[in-house]
Amino acid sequence: MTSPAEGGTPAGAGPTDTDWAAALAAVRGLPADARVLLICHVNPDGDALGSMLGFGLGLRRWGVRHLQATFPGPPEVPEPFRWLPGLDLLVPQDDAYPDPDLVICFDAASESRLGDLVDRLDKAGAALVLDHHASNTRFGGIHLVDPHAAATSVVAEGLLDRLGVPLDAEIAACLYVALSTDTGSFRFEATTPEVHRMAARLLATGIRPGDISRRIFDTRPFGAVRLFGEVLGRARLEPEAAAGRGLVWTYATQDDLARYGQPAYVLEALIDSVRCTAEADVSCVVKQVAPAEWAVSMRSKGAVDVSRVAVALGGGGHRFAAGFTGRGTVDEVLDRIRAELVGALTA
Ligand code: AMP
Ligand code: MN
Ligand code: MN
Repeated sequence: MTSPAEGGTPAGAGPTDTDWAAALAAVRGLPADARVLLICHVNPDGDALGSMLGFGLGLRRWGVRHLQATFPGPPEVPEPFRWLPGLDLLVPQDDAYPDPDLVICFDAASESRLGDLVDRLDKAGAALVLDHHASNTRFGGIHLVDPHAAATSVVAEGLLDRLGVPLDAEIAACLYVALSTDTGSFRFEATTPEVHRMAARLLATGIRPGDISRRIFDTRPFGAVRLFGEVLGRARLEPEAAAGRGLVWTYATQDDLARYGQPAYVLEALIDSVRCTAEADVSCVVKQVAPAEWAVSMRSKGAVDVSRVAVALGGGGHRFAAGFTGRGTVDEVLDRIRAELVGALTA
């Protein structure tokens, strides 16, 4: 990473005026027939999809006519997000422009989160990165990375505002989904006065927060309710882990999903039931994605910086919410996590 004296952005600081100017120039300098490709991270969550689609709708209003949005892997959008405005922008990754004039990445901390779409970074005329992970590796050419932003949608709203695109109810619904998912419904520490001011701007467009919350947080198939029961039933508490701060964890296999007829994304909500555990600072859900491959979600209440654990094990994230891909057996993955916890204590 370059030092501030060399013109780079200091770690932890948000975008500089120069960064904003570069991003605006990249959009304003597009030719009339430009092709713009939007990409969000693999296994997209509410912030990835919401910031990408909300910004995409804004770019369309601004005048970009050849516009695609995509993400790596199977093109299925998780059911809770299948009503989002702007879904018509989505194309499967294989149909995405091979050499767009501009590529814009959303909510991806590193190139590895872009899967097979990573080649677009080099093939595009310019690559703009909108993100809020402190662990962002500064890939791509133009960076709007704000580790203090509660969601990537905060950065997306900032760019739309600077482009002079007004919020409408469709853009607002997407950005609200992004903001409310990444703040855990405005419960997490990142919920600053500015987050509530942004939420107020979004709500002022007439969107219905009750309907949105019920769809994205409070609705799941009965099979998923029963699957959660079984997976929570096998949770383990290790009070001595993380130098006595405590670890609680569970796992779910592909066979568990098959027995209850559920798609993998239903497991995303599971960590919220596990992290309630009073006796543990760190919580963890290990989700099988292939025979010896596991998507690991970690949360912390503050005594452990789980992004340090995740980065040490090849992933990334935030202090209180992070993840990585683990290989081997569940026990092997857990052993590696336990070994990293003590070194990741915050005090
Ligand atoms: P999740 O547990 O999937 O909700 O992810 C929590 C946080 O960790 C998010 O900010 C993700 O972007 C990040 N994260 C999760 N998995 C990975 C991974 N394999 N590599 C990098 N970051 C990840
Ligand atoms: Mn995300
Ligand atoms: Mn995010």
